[in-house]
Amino acid sequence: MLRLICVLILSLPVMWAQKKTIFLITDAEGVGGVCRQDQTDSKDQEMRQLLTGEVNAAVEGFFAGGADEVVVWDGHDGSQTLSTLTLHPRAKLVMGALGSSMLMERRYSAVAYVGQHSKANIRGGIMAHSYSSLGIQNMLLNGKPVGEIDVIAAMAGHFGIPVILLSGDQAAANELKEIVPNAELAVVKEGLGRYNCISLSAAAARDMIMEAAARSVSKIGSIKPYTVPGPVTLQIEYTTRNSLPVDAEKRAGAEVLDDRTIRFLGKDILVGWSLYRSR
Ligand SMILES: [Zn+2]
Repeated sequence: MLRLICVLILSLPVMWAQKKTIFLITDAEGVGGVCRQDQTDSKDQEMRQLLTGEVNAAVEGFFAGGADEVVVWDGHDGSQTLSTLTLHPRAKLVMGALGSSMLMERRYSAVAYVGQHSKANIRGGIMAHSYSSLGIQNMLLNGKPVGEIDVIAAMAGHFGIPVILLSGDQAAANELKEIVPNAELAVVKEGLGRYNCISLSAAAARDMIMEAAARSVSKIGSIKPYTVPGPVTLQIEYTTRNSLPVDAEKRAGAEVLDDRTIRFLGKDILVGWSLYRSR
């Protein structure tokens, strides 16, 4: 009996590790059929349907591929876009800001993106931006221009979590491929310019995402988490529509480089990102 209990206790971590939970990060600008700024309004009914359709297709694919749980974060514009009324019945919805660790300390089995756009300043990236179109001209992580794709992948990697799937425009797919070559990619539209695109139909986009999501689950264990070596610098160049935070010089870990650029230094991505996000 004692032996059985010992075996059970010893195998608990393995059983937990085997439960496959996917953390799905969502955004609006990379959704098929979304190509104009007005469509990204979180109250836009058509965009909501298009995004929900792609999210639910990914969720369906993950479960078909062997996932046990899918947690979806409504990442666009303050979590006002997705609804539990129309979310896939087996998915869970995270609403509101994630905090500086992006909830990665929960050590999900894998992270995926749906509706993802590329980083700022990418020609042919549909509504390309790095966290804020109006506020941020450029964001550099250890000197490399980055947007949500790199930052989220690096935060996931910090906690040992791999990125297995991205759906979005071609530019976003190219961006993830550079850092996670084996991730599954579902390209739902091609950007001709910032507001010009060739998009798949919603039905075709959903099919493609569902299949890619199903395949991606089998890559858990073989895709290496993407890691950014510390110490980490995170440099933010604000736009002319924005300015340095008041008292920028007094921010912890911060160095003001010029009148619109600030740089944070942290021992790793978690610390660097936390310094930037804390106000
Ligand atoms: Zn975004």
